[in-house]
Order: sequence, then C-alpha cells, then structure tokens
Amino acid sequence: MTILDDKIAAFFRPEILKLNAYHVPSAEEMVKLDAMENPYHWPPEMVEAWLDRLRNIRPNRYPDPQPEHLKHALKIHAKVPENMEILLGNGSDEIIQILLMALAGKPEATVMTPQPTFVMYQQLAVSLGLKCIGVPLQKDFSLDREAMLSALDQYRPQIVFLAYPNNPSGNLFDEKVILEIIDKSPGLVILDEAYAPFAQASFMERLSQFDNLLVMRTLSKLGLAGLRLGFLAGRRAWLEQLDKLRLPYNINVLTQITAEFALANAAVFEQQTAQIRSDRTKMYQQLQNLPQVEVFPSAANFILFRVPDADTVFHKLKQQGILIKNLHPSGGLLTNCLRVTIGTPGENEVFLTALKTALTP
Ligand SMILES: *Cc1c(COP(=O)(O)O)cnc(C)c1O
Repeated sequence: MTILDDKIAAFFRPEILKLNAYHVPSAEEMVKLDAMENPYHWPPEMVEAWLDRLRNIRPNRYPDPQPEHLKHALKIHAKVPENMEILLGNGSDEIIQILLMALAGKPEATVMTPQPTFVMYQQLAVSLGLKCIGVPLQKDFSLDREAMLSALDQYRPQIVFLAYPNNPSGNLFDEKVILEIIDKSPGLVILDEAYAPFAQASFMERLSQFDNLLVMRTLSKLGLAGLRLGFLAGRRAWLEQLDKLRLPYNINVLTQITAEFALANAAVFEQQTAQIRSDRTKMYQQLQNLPQVEVFPSAANFILFRVPDADTVFHKLKQQGILIKNLHPSGGLLTNCLRVTIGTPGENEVFLTALKTALTP
C-alpha cells in the first residue's frame, strides 16, 4: 500500500470501495446487441428538420429549469392522467438516485426489490448508504407472492422498485400480485416502465387508485438513449418534495429541444418499436427451435435465454463480432443466462447464425 492508497482507503466509505463500477464494454466494430438500444436512426428529412431546430439553440444560456412544453408533450405521449404531474431526470437512473437521496441518512431506511432485477436500484442504494433487500424471484422469474408480502412485513421498506417488464428477465410480473404489493407497502412503490414501448401494459392509469404509487418512464429504450431523459409520474405532493433534490438544470438544452422534436414525430418511433416487437416474436421462435436453448418470454426489446455453458457461448459470439450480455457471473437464477437485444432483422440473423456456430462443440 502506498501513502496515496491509504489516503483513498481512509477517504471513501467502505461500501463504496467494495462497489464494482458499472462496466460498459467497448463495442467498436461489433454488432451491438447488449444494451437495449433501438437500432434505427431517423429518416434523412427528419434529421434535416432536427438540425434546423438546433440552429436556434443558445448554448450560452442555462436550459429552462422547468420546461413546461416538453413536460406537457411527455404527459400526452405517455398518457399520464391529467391530475398527475411529472418530474424530469437525466435518464431514469437519475430519478432512482433522487428517490434514494430522499432516504439517505435515515437510519432505518430500507429499499426492497425482487432479485434479479435492474442493477442500478441496488448500486445506487448502496452508494447512498442504504440497506437494499433482494427477494428472490421464482424459477420462471415471476414474483414470489408470499416471499414479497412477508418481506414487506418484516422489513417495512420505504421504497419498493418493480421493473415492469423486468430487466434482465423480460417478463411482466403478475398484475394482481403487484396490486397486492402496492396495497400492503408501508412506503412508496415505484413501477419502472422503461420498456413500456414494447410491453403494451402499464400502471399509469392506476396512479389515481393509490397514494403510494409512482410510475417511472424513460425515452432511452424508445430510441433516444443518447438524450438521457427519464421522468417520474405521480401526485404533485410527492413530486414537489422530490423536486427539491433535483439539480436545477438537470435536463440540458440539446436534450430539451431534441426530445420535443422527437415527440412531435412520434409516428416514426411507433413504427420502429412495432418493427422491433414483431422481430422479437421471430427471434423468440428461432431461439425456441434450438434444442440446447431455454428461452424466456419477453415483453421488452430483449430476450433472456439459457444455454449449457454461457461463458463459452458469450466468448464465441464475441469472436464472431457480436456483443450481447452475459449474465452468468450474477449467478443464482441467472446461471448460464445470456441476454440479447432485438436489433435490425439483419443483425438478428447474424446473431442467430453465430449462436448456432457457438453452440456447436
Ligand atoms: C435501461 C433501464 C433503465 C435506465 O434508463 P435510463 O433512462 O437510460 O437511465 C431504468 N430501468 C430499467 C429497468 C432499465 O432496464
């Protein structure tokens, strides 16, 4: 240990030193099917119209701290009930962070999630010194109703995060069980609907039914991952407190203008996501046809599947220039599981051919 190592070890909280950084592998020159991105760009005339809009930007000025036009457009787009408000985040990741910051420093504060789920809930909870309880899902990745309800009783969590559909499994949890969880939760329940464009199922309409429910969305999976724009919908009383934790200019001017422009051209994204949904069905069937593959149903723009030896298949795909996500290192239910994002029909074809090669001993 050098003197600098000692200084660093003394500076950080032990749980930070133990954290693994969120690792994003390099995908240069690769067929990139690891990050749930929409593979399609925009028609050329749409790009031109967008560039015209950007000409009016004044980068010397701070962005609008409460962009009402954009918020209104998002509310219409996501069918947020009229009496509900929204809070904007620099990606929904930032909203998760804002929610958890509200609890940081509360000694008894506990966060609860099913396990496995989106890793940022736990990552951010731990980084803010909060206790995070993971309740194992069942073998088919459905919610374990009894385990969830008894963990609610035992830990009385301030926040429950439910990804709907769940990442990395892709399934929609049972609606009745979710309603029971919301009903029995002592604190907030956050329905994370990052994959709403592919799910055609939502709790948005139920916001009025519960005073402890908030619904989170993002434009990332729709096709605007580069913008970093997410939002939280719900009652004003909750959002007005959370807004105090939001950095005043968290949504930059390029994102504001581009998101408004994109929402005015929503038909383009509707067409792209419909294509992805239909290609998801094809990919699911083709994976099902492979005898060594166990494939899990998906309501998202990715598919989880299990193979006899995930590490080997992952590396063999990589050698063939294809990057997907290897979930085997997470262990547990994800043992030997891989996750592939739905790409263009051409990319999906290349992936399936390479997968067949990778599965051949
Ligand atoms: C991708 C993803 C997010 C993060 O979305 P950003 O808005 O890009 O930060 C949130 N929740 C789930 C479940 C996701 O899979």
